[in-house]
Amino acid sequence: MYPFTLIKVTDNAGAIATKSMHANSKFIGGGTNLVDLMKMDVEKPEQLVDITSLHLKKIEILPNGNLLIGALVKNSDLAYDHIVSTRYPVLSQALLSGASPQLRNMATTAGNLLQRTRCYYFYDTATPCNKREPGSGCSAIKGYNRIHAILGTSDHCIAAHPSDMCVAMAALDAIIHVEGRNGKRTIAFANFHTLPGDHPEIENTLQPDELITAVEIPDLPFAATSTYLKVRDRASFAFALASAAVALDLSGGMINDARIAFGGIGTKPWRSQEAEKSLKGKGISMDSFKEAADIALQDAKTYQYNSFKKELAKRTLISALQKTAHIS
Ligand code: SF4
Repeated sequence: MYPFTLIKVTDNAGAIATKSMHANSKFIGGGTNLVDLMKMDVEKPEQLVDITSLHLKKIEILPNGNLLIGALVKNSDLAYDHIVSTRYPVLSQALLSGASPQLRNMATTAGNLLQRTRCYYFYDTATPCNKREPGSGCSAIKGYNRIHAILGTSDHCIAAHPSDMCVAMAALDAIIHVEGRNGKRTIAFANFHTLPGDHPEIENTLQPDELITAVEIPDLPFAATSTYLKVRDRASFAFALASAAVALDLSGGMINDARIAFGGIGTKPWRSQEAEKSLKGKGISMDSFKEAADIALQDAKTYQYNSFKKELAKRTLISALQKTAHIS
């Protein structure tokens, strides 16, 4: 591990100013991903700004009915919050399917948004990796790519986005609140994470001086009828091979509206509005669920060891839809 300076701050303005003073500086909250990356010399910040004392730990309902989640709310507190588990079960289930209880007790909402891929080569500093070292090459494209993405990949990176929480937030159209030297702004969830393209080292649209302060979840009544289903190699403390976040607006045997997002198969949390569109106005049936799954995966590009993911993702989505609609 490289030497670094640790500076504790007590307000948002101080955090932003302190981070801006040093080009190689990072905020640290729970540290559940960043400290691992530092131990393995993947990340080498020279300055860490400890933001754990900031007043960003509240979960509240806004006057417009939306839910506002402070950036430092722990994953476990968010998952077990009564409003979250009743109004947005998909979010609660996604959080509880991630990591381990100990990690969820430390990991924060903002940290989860920014967690980095679990591509083996990204962590192995002896191998080329465009995300870790731009221009060095991608070891996964022709390597062992069983856990890698099949949607949103590029010739420079095929790493899957690792978060479960983000998949639920993508389905729920979350809004990210940030604050920087130029003031406050919001970023629509769909515009926050970026595709790897030619620059896999860039993973989101956050500016270097910006601090995530909260995540807002719109009031969506039918989110109460929602499910997160995750398929992985073992029952806990494992990343998704494929996962699906689903919310359905159902009445009289019909699907009035739907929200669908995938995890484990995309280079970012993968919303499928085409699949959602295909379900709207259809009857609740296996045929409509299978059609939505086919549409969602129509652009999938598989690699040598992960071709199974296309079918796995379809089945995961169909199972999540069945569970949400209570049909077998
Ligand atoms: Fe690096 Fe991305 Fe290739 Fe993995 S998939 S080796 S993270 S460039």
